[in-house]
Amino acid sequence: MTAKHAIVVGAGAGGLAAGIDLAKSGFRVTVLERAAAPGGKMHARQVDNRTIDGGPTVLTMRSIFEQLFADAGTHLQDHLTLLPSPIIARHAWSHGGVLDLYPDLTQSRRSIEAFAGSENAIGFERFYSQSARIHQALSNTFMKVSKPSPLALVSRVLRQHHPSSLIAARPAPDLWRALGSFFSDERLRQLFARYATYVGSSPLSTPATLMLIAHVELEGVWLVDGGMHRLAAAMAAVAQNLGADLHFNSHVSEVLVKGNRAAGVRLEDGSTLPADVVVFNGDSNALATGQLGTAAMRSVKPRPPQRRGLSALTWCIKGSSSGFDLDHHNVFFESNYPSEFNTLFHDRRIPQKPTVYLCAQDRGPNRSLNGSERLLMLVNAPADGDQHIWDKDQVARTRDNALAVLNRCGLNLAFRDSDCVSTTPSDWHGRFPASGGSLYGGASHGIWSSFTRPGARSRLKGLYLSGGSVHPGPGVPMATLSGRLAARAVLRDIG
Ligand SMILES: Cc1cc2nc3c(=O)[nH]c(=O)nc-3n(C[C@H](O)[C@H](O)[C@H](O)COP(=O)(O)OP(=O)(O)OC[C@H]3O[C@@H](n4cnc5c(N)ncnc54)[C@H](O)[C@@H]3O)c2cc1C
Repeated sequence: MTAKHAIVVGAGAGGLAAGIDLAKSGFRVTVLERAAAPGGKMHARQVDNRTIDGGPTVLTMRSIFEQLFADAGTHLQDHLTLLPSPIIARHAWSHGGVLDLYPDLTQSRRSIEAFAGSENAIGFERFYSQSARIHQALSNTFMKVSKPSPLALVSRVLRQHHPSSLIAARPAPDLWRALGSFFSDERLRQLFARYATYVGSSPLSTPATLMLIAHVELEGVWLVDGGMHRLAAAMAAVAQNLGADLHFNSHVSEVLVKGNRAAGVRLEDGSTLPADVVVFNGDSNALATGQLGTAAMRSVKPRPPQRRGLSALTWCIKGSSSGFDLDHHNVFFESNYPSEFNTLFHDRRIPQKPTVYLCAQDRGPNRSLNGSERLLMLVNAPADGDQHIWDKDQVARTRDNALAVLNRCGLNLAFRDSDCVSTTPSDWHGRFPASGGSLYGGASHGIWSSFTRPGARSRLKGLYLSGGSVHPGPGVPMATLSGRLAARAVLRDIG
């Protein structure tokens, strides 16, 4: 019997995971990727001959990748070296204070006590145990399984856990208000509220459920030796070893539909490829807005611009730093958080004193500073990349504002202009069609948002969805799970 043919459009984490599982299950797999390399957002930039990660840098939930590789008949450690990060992140405030969080409850508690006193340390313990309970309640009932309806989720939780877990997994109030009940120190409230941005959202609008991210980070943050983009290369290699065909610089312009089901794709050069199933790994909004043909438009609901998650303005920098002892992951705070998120989501601009994330890629275990250092600097931005082209002056002004925040926290960066490569919301929009530059699909705002992301099965038979814009959501581990869920749905339907 000839193998069924699956086309995967996009070689991001979700597309590669789907490709691996389908190839392992006996499908003939073709992965078509419009960029020149695998990884999608998990990518690197060349700055003066140095390779700098320009996308994700915080790797959590290692077991998801171990399982993917093991199910493919190989071992993650044969492809990559993952190093546990001894510090989750170093946090600094311009008006005073530096706090390290550790992937260890006792150490973090001690650090918080020294920073903000025993009342906040007790608050942290309460916060952490709540976060662990939410994680426990949702890990196997929501994240790792096909998208449930609200009722189905309640019944899954009740089947697997004590009824009190339902109260623990509370969606209300919003994260910002919930944090006020654990921390009297505004800086700690800000630090933990930042988790909302991991899914492109505002802590003022996202459900308190998202505090589960604290538990995920406390379980371990990993550094990939050689950079995060190596994870994408390793996943691509596993798919290829299983027989998948990967094609780069191959933009898919249409999902072909025959007799009400997806039947293949058309490439930009006009050539067509038939398939039994198509897995789409781009932003699902590209399908809804007709970028893959009118016949596939009804496969998912469009996402209105006001429901997009955050974008970012980033700079990959080769330079040097002084005045502040950087760790691998660093966050610098200055502004009042509610005002920062109102500016981002309601005024739709970057605040003048933005929170700045800085990844010092030559710092941390097994790394050494070798003269210049490789840095990724990131500020959150509204996802208006399709409505607004960022000009050079605007990018330079925003960069200076971010550098000024670092300065006021004690850090000076020095680099040549030519050693600083920016990526704006309009650049992201160009790379990820129909996203508006959003890096996380839709924002997780309101208690129903998790249920409104599309699931693995689109409304068009034969067309499946994977990636950060669909269930269970954004982030490399979640996108990887989404790819596995898409493969599982294909296997259930036609495998
Ligand atoms: C700056 C930045 C920092 C981040 N930080 C973190 C972090 O620290 N930790 C974390 O876990 N996550 C982080 N994320 C989010 C994380 O990177 C993403 O959620 C995840 O990588 C998305 O994977 P995906 O499967 O959705 O695929 P994507 O990465 O979105 O890739 C989709 C692929 O599909 C391709 N494609 C789209 N349309 C077509 C078409 N028509 N034809 C052919 N190919 C197509 C695209 O070129 C792309 O390669 C970050 C993202 C960015 C950008």
